[in-house]
Amino acid sequence: MSDCIFCKIVAGQLPCSKVYEDDELLVFHDIHPFARVHLLIIPKAHIVSLAECTPEHERLLSRIMLLAPRLAKEHGLDSGFKTLVNTGRGGGQEVFHLHVHVFGGGDPVTHI
Ligand code: AMP
Ligand code: ZN
Repeated sequence: MSDCIFCKIVAGQLPCSKVYEDDELLVFHDIHPFARVHLLIIPKAHIVSLAECTPEHERLLSRIMLLAPRLAKEHGLDSGFKTLVNTGRGGGQEVFHLHVHVFGGGDPVTHI
């Protein structure tokens, strides 16, 4: 997707603060963090949102969700963290490439 900023990050055409990468997933720091630690886990493949996922994405989604606590722990979020997936305009999604927010640290995040 030529106009997708997260595809451009995957392709190395835009910079990111990379935290983790494997053949299917990329994780980087959100550019406007909600909390001391704010990571975005994305699939390298362009998937618009959770609403476009099908049973064929089951393994990918499971890998994303299992990566979240591992990276949260590695970033010192020992007392807990929040995960968030905004889906569609009505769900507050601004970047239409599937991503899971993982954030925490500092004061407990209770407002979202
Ligand atoms: P959402 O509302 O779930 O679509 O959130 C998109 C998130 O992407 C926001 O928290 C933005 O701060 C973040 N974001 C947008 N552009 C970049 C970028 N170039 N690098 C890192 N994070 C970004
Ligand atoms: Zn994309």
